[in-house]
Amino acid sequence: RSKTVGFIGLGQMGYGMANNLATKSIDPLLVYDVNQDAVQKFIETHPNARAASSPGDIAEQAATVITMLPESSHVESVYKAMRDAVDKDSILVDSSTIDADVSRRVAADIMSKNATAFDAPVSGGTLGANAGTLTFMVGAPSLESFEKVKPVLCHMGHNVVYCGCNGSGQVAKLCNNMLLGISMIGVSEAMLLGTRLGMDAHLLASILNTSTGRCWSSDTYNPHPGVIPTAPSGKDYKGGFSNKLMAKDLRIAMKAAKDASADPVLGTVAAQIYNQLSVTKDFDSLDFSSVYKVYFKNKID
Ligand code: NAD
Repeated sequence: RSKTVGFIGLGQMGYGMANNLATKSIDPLLVYDVNQDAVQKFIETHPNARAASSPGDIAEQAATVITMLPESSHVESVYKAMRDAVDKDSILVDSSTIDADVSRRVAADIMSKNATAFDAPVSGGTLGANAGTLTFMVGAPSLESFEKVKPVLCHMGHNVVYCGCNGSGQVAKLCNNMLLGISMIGVSEAMLLGTRLGMDAHLLASILNTSTGRCWSSDTYNPHPGVIPTAPSGKDYKGGFSNKLMAKDLRIAMKAAKDASADPVLGTVAAQIYNQLSVTKDFDSLDFSSVYKVYFKNKID
């Protein structure tokens, strides 16, 4: 088995992550996506990358395979397709955000074939994926195995954190994203109120960002257009992290909360709001900061 690294899922996040791998790692890269255009674009601009014909093809050739797919069902089907090709020298790392139970199940199945599986969901958004500054939350079979996988993740992230056994990376991630959904709605409400009361959006954001209301949704990903030109709000909410995916994460969080007999009041409201956005035509694929525009009925000046 060669030192080749495989990457499956060249979407909003995966493209930037694979780009960092291709640029910083000396190991050859093999990529796959059902979207042939993304694969074509990637290999045309990365001489050390080749296209694989299927997930099974990647699993046969690569020592380490990273997946960055939308939802649990995609991870289940891709892992099923890789199953027959893995062996004791295979390392599979799933960076998608999925249900922790599904994550544990697919990992156990892969490990029954003597391969090693990790959940390593990320935080930092497309800006972090492109810059190689993501935080990885890693669930691993052991601390020793975590130390082995860490170097490849360091090419894509600044913080690579061992969270405990398989599935615990997903637990950390669902807590983070429940808070993120709530904070984006909160920042949207504050920005809307301030601008409705006549305050300049840039000034208000700069005050929030040096005051106690400061958070990632306000200082890095502010939903008011133009406050952070590089954020999706500065590009008509295109790209970034879709309402559909945020709704998925909040569904995962609500299911986990129910299983744990927790009762998150604000998390429940955020899940309802994002669920509505995820089924609103023309808005399902917009970035989740578009809650500012959509939920507040296009009231942006
Ligand atoms: P995306 O939809 O942009 O990308 C997913 C990619 O997977 C697409 O290119 C798609 O063609 C490909 N794909 C789908 N099914 C496939 C299959 N069976 N085989 C191969 N490729 C397949 O999604 P994204 O925004 O990149 O998010 C990916 C994951 O990362 C999600 O679980 C999301 O929740 C999580 N995440 C996203 C962000 C963000 O800001 N976008 C941040 C953190 C975590």
